[in-house]
Parts: sequence; structure tokens; C-alpha cells
Amino acid sequence: MKDIEFPVFKTKSEDYKKFDLTDPAERKEYFEYKAGDEIKKLQEYLKDNTFIVYLLGKKSSGKGTYAKMLKEIVAPDKIEHLSIGDMIRSFDEVLRDPTRKEELIEFLKQKYRGPTPLQDIIKAMEERSTKVLLPSELILALTEREITRMGKKAIFLDGFPRDLDQVSYSLFFKNLIDYRQDPDIFVMIDVPTNVIDQRVKFRVICPLCNTSRSLKLLPTKNVEYDEKDGKFHLICDNPACPASPPASPNRGESQGGTGARMVTKEGDELGIEPIRARLDKDEMLMGQVYKMHGISKVFLRNSIPVGQVKEYTDDYEITPEYSYEWDKNDKKVVVTEMPWEVKDDTGEKCNSLMPPPVVVSLIKQLVAVLGL
Ligand SMILES: [Zn+2]
Repeated sequence: MKDIEFPVFKTKSEDYKKFDLTDPAERKEYFEYKAGDEIKKLQEYLKDNTFIVYLLGKKSSGKGTYAKMLKEIVAPDKIEHLSIGDMIRSFDEVLRDPTRKEELIEFLKQKYRGPTPLQDIIKAMEERSTKVLLPSELILALTEREITRMGKKAIFLDGFPRDLDQVSYSLFFKNLIDYRQDPDIFVMIDVPTNVIDQRVKFRVICPLCNTSRSLKLLPTKNVEYDEKDGKFHLICDNPACPASPPASPNRGESQGGTGARMVTKEGDELGIEPIRARLDKDEMLMGQVYKMHGISKVFLRNSIPVGQVKEYTDDYEITPEYSYEWDKNDKKVVVTEMPWEVKDDTGEKCNSLMPPPVVVSLIKQLVAVLGL
């Protein structure tokens, strides 16, 4: 980011040991190896204490991915990830059910104080209208309600604060939810705009099971070449996919022809263009929080300048990029893997980190700001 200095965090180990970070079991070993002591400290702390983390980062910067990974590794039953966007979307269902709708309106009659009439808000929510912006006072009341339901847990709040006025609210939010003694921490995430752009452009989904992958950054095992359109396609390999071939002894024969071809969602080919205004706003918000005094801040970065990669990271922590060639003679796709290089917002050549090393940095910085 232009206005904030995000320090490069060192995750390189003294003794090199390689892990496959896409494999859940190896990923667990990796965390134990890189941050075992800090994980224990956090687990100990969470036995009797909580904290509240505000995740700040541009849309698609990986906020949810990082929070969920930390929760899984540290304490699945003591930590909650609360996405305000998901929460708002979940009200679609509530509003279709007359009993639950009545309950919600009763709650809001008691809790909501704000300039927009309640009936207008409900109408906007029912019509999924994005024209009427849901007022901060409403978001606050609903978030408080969700947190009360969760019981007392450490919380990663994703999507709040989202507007400038909400920054001020967030400074008093822990009093509102009665976490008075517990620390609150602002976690700021820096991801180059180019990384977000490429993630969106190369994202593909399975039309049958909605599994999401990336042609460039996270392919499936089976890549197919279509001679008609001259393009490469991923074939869904989710075992639960309806098109997934049944497990059979002659697996070699299932190559090509079985499994669903993954497709680009309409609009994704435009990359960040449709969300540029939103990204600018997210960046402005981070700049605002950065200037606040008296609050604990943690800085996470997704990219590392190419020249510093060897000193700060192990090679397998870098996101690879995949490219394909069609071998006409053997009729097969040749896959090439190399470190993905992108330019960050200042134009510097960078590599992008896989999520686990970013989470290692998060774990270690949390332990530091909590003074454990
Ligand atoms: Zn599928």
C-alpha cells in the first residue's frame, strides 16, 4: 500500500524442511514446526480469555482465508470468524420465514436507533436492494446480536468497520458487547492490486459443485486441452462432485472425458475493474485506522520483493504460477510450475506468499501484541 509501511516478516527457518502447503496434514506439521510455541501460548491464553480482531484489507485480500486457517490450527472451539457480508446475506432466509422475520423486527425495534426508518431497511433487505445502504447503526445492532449468540469467544470480525464512521464505532465496540477487559486488535492486510486482479481473472468454478480453483494459481490434477477453441481447461477433481468418476482400479482410463469442465464466472474476466471504487474505499479505510493512536495493530503482507525472498522465506512458501503447453505428438498437456511474479502497487517486482506463512506471521504478531 502506498501510505502504510508493511514490514516484511521473516518465516524462513534455520533448518530447511519442506512441506506441501496444499496438503492439510502437512500444513498442520508446518504450523507446528514454524510456530509451535506461539500456538501453545495462544491456546493457553484462550482457556480463560478472549480478544477481538478487526480484519482490515481490500476486498478479496484473503481476510476470511487467514482467519479460518488460524481458527483451525489454534482453537476451533474458542475462536469465531464473523463475516458481516455473510451475516447480511443470511437474512435473506430469515426474512422469508414469517416467524423468524417477526423475531428479527422485534429485536430491531428494541435495539436499532438510526436515521433510516426500520420499515425502509427491511424492505431494502427483502428486495436485496444495494441502493439503500444499510446504516451503520443497524450493522452494529445485528453484529452485537450475532456475537451474543456465539457465547464468549475470541472473534475475528471481517467486514466491520467498513465505512469511515464505523471506525469510530469500532473503538467502543468491545464495550458494547461486554468484552470490556479484553484486548482489541486491528489486523491490516496488504495485497497488491495486481494479485487481486489475477486471482479474479483466472478464477474458475465447477458448474456442478461450485468448487473454486484457479487456472493460473491453483489447478486441479487434470488439465484438458480443447483443440477446437485452443484453450486449456481444468477438470473438477472434488471427490464429492456429481461428475466425479467412481473410484475404480483402472484410474488411468478416466483421463479426459470424465469430470466436469470448470468455467469462468461471468464478469470475472474483467478482473478488478467493476470493484475498483470499493478497493479504493477499503484502502482509504486502512489509512484512517493506521493513523489512530492507542490501538494495537498487526501488519500482514501477501507480497515480498523478489530481492528479499531468499532471505525471508523458504521456497515452498511462495505461490507458484502454472502454465501449459499442448504436446501434439503425445496428445497431452505439459504443465510448468514456477514462482509467480507480480508487480506491487509501487511497481516493484514481488512474489506472492501462500496463505500459511501469512498466518504464521499473524500468530506470532498476535502473541506479541497480547504480551504472551
Ligand atoms: Zn465439481
